[in-house]
Amino acid sequence: MSMDDAFSRRLFVGSVIATSAGALLTRPANAQKTPPPVAEGTKPQTAPPVPPTGKTVPEAAKPSAPAEPSVTTAAPTIALPPLPYAENALEPVISATTVGFHYGKHHKTYVEKTNTLSAGTPLAGKSLEEIVKRAAKGGEKQKKLFNAAAQTWNHNFYWQSLKPKGGGAPTGTVKERIDKDFGSYEKFREQFATTAIDHFSNGWVWLVLDKGKLKIVETHDADTPLLRGQKPLLTTDVWEHAYYLDYKNARKDYVNGFLDKLLNWDFVAANLV
Ligand code: MN
Repeated sequence: MSMDDAFSRRLFVGSVIATSAGALLTRPANAQKTPPPVAEGTKPQTAPPVPPTGKTVPEAAKPSAPAEPSVTTAAPTIALPPLPYAENALEPVISATTVGFHYGKHHKTYVEKTNTLSAGTPLAGKSLEEIVKRAAKGGEKQKKLFNAAAQTWNHNFYWQSLKPKGGGAPTGTVKERIDKDFGSYEKFREQFATTAIDHFSNGWVWLVLDKGKLKIVETHDADTPLLRGQKPLLTTDVWEHAYYLDYKNARKDYVNGFLDKLLNWDFVAANLV
């Protein structure tokens, strides 16, 4: 991977907040042609017909229109990032059907819930990472928003952690870091596989940078290393929806396929810079 590619991949997670809020606030093109609906209580019993465009009507005959609603909070701007590859590009390890549901349904729904639950709150319009961190401090009241936002962030990161024809041992700087902190690639692989296969219930397994050292950590449900000051370098999703259509209960086969055929070391390298 070229440095440009690596750089743009690093930007990928951050770019999900880059959608223009202005676009969402733009009035529709036909806004001038169709009067806004009049609230039931203020509607005159004998409302005059809407005049054809171009004809003047006496002021008194015009139905009174409600004032434009004032915008007090920014519009939600979290977007579903495009997949970095085609839905069938991870076959035969992960089927197009699994990616279709995982990305097109699960991930998309987390994005939509993040926008719905943050709308009208001070978190609307904030970056995804900020929503995750601030909602995490909101306790039970913001648990649903945290779950949706963190799952959005985690999935954005997951798709980049995979690539067609990936996997196997790393090279270059990443190999040196793996050897230094785990002893060898084989020891890293064994620890990552065991952690992912043994992880209880839904969650994530991560390679993170923690105080200058590479570590493998696991999180449950939507939890993310972002909340512990650890820098994520790589993740794999061990929620059942990530593999059940392809492997049923054999999570081991999914984890081995990830490690040997899909793991994106280029993404790790880019995150280490
Ligand atoms: Mn998932």
